[in-house]
Amino acid sequence: MLGKLVIRGVSLALIVALGSACCGPDRPQSEAGRTSLVPPDSSLRTQVVLLGTGTPNAEPDRSGPAVAVVVDDTPYLVDLGPGVVRRAAAAYQAGVEGLAVPKLKTAFITHLHTDHTLGYPDLIFTPWVLERDVPAEVYGPKGTQAMTDHLLAAYEEDIRIRIDGLERANTEGYKVNVHEIEPGLIYEDERVRVTAFRVEHGGWVQAFGFRFDTPDRSIVISGDTRPMRGIVEHCLACDLLIHEVYSQAGFERRSPEWQRYHASSHTSSLELGELAAEARPGLLVLYHQLLWGSTPEELLAEIRQVYDGPVVYGADLDIF
Ligand SMILES: [Zn+2]
Ligand SMILES: [Zn+2]
Repeated sequence: MLGKLVIRGVSLALIVALGSACCGPDRPQSEAGRTSLVPPDSSLRTQVVLLGTGTPNAEPDRSGPAVAVVVDDTPYLVDLGPGVVRRAAAAYQAGVEGLAVPKLKTAFITHLHTDHTLGYPDLIFTPWVLERDVPAEVYGPKGTQAMTDHLLAAYEEDIRIRIDGLERANTEGYKVNVHEIEPGLIYEDERVRVTAFRVEHGGWVQAFGFRFDTPDRSIVISGDTRPMRGIVEHCLACDLLIHEVYSQAGFERRSPEWQRYHASSHTSSLELGELAAEARPGLLVLYHQLLWGSTPEELLAEIRQVYDGPVVYGADLDIF
């Protein structure tokens, strides 16, 4: 099953591994010298799975934004785009043991845009129906508690029927412990430390990026953001930088109104290339790609104008 996962999507053809800094022992290279998407060898404790690389655009092959950092078979989710639980189930079927649906419990939300949260009720309820018997633990910006309360109220009748009816669902697994966060260290256990840092994303009062430190990897996830120094400061030669991006050529085809929005809310290919040149990640992984008529190859070529490090055009279910 893993083989199927490895070859799906367009990523394999779109990997650019330039320079010798690209591939440590964690990132096997093919004979052609390219980084392989073969899952890291099983001695690694951390796997990073792109559960969704999409945007608000309803592209059938790209679920809403969601990334799983899996350490010793324990999953930590970043963002809950539509499709998150089914993508986790697909990764589980492909051999990522830590993404068994009942194990989905801990999530970190970058901001409350719908494309990042439409899978939130899915995270609350589907693992519960599949017998998760402990509450979810959800870390997010101000407003996460109110959103959670509204979701639980919306599904009140379902909860009552599942608990009181013949299904006899457990009485804990649908609950959520919400942790509204501020920048800094927001989570720590024996497997992972999670640091939140502020990013700027349109009109959102709070939007975050996250850095994960595990026993063997450092991973920075941008969330949605215009270019930010904080990304550079929090990566600084991190193993993986997973960053949103839009095509500069596509941007130039947008209306002036949309250009104003995108420039204040997102990061262009050229801006990301410059940022990555400073941040020097072991591997730059593109997600939440906005193409607006450009091709993935064209987007990568834009980045290469200003950045000669290794970069991957991420696809759903890629594993790093
Ligand atoms: Zn988004
Ligand atoms: Zn957003």
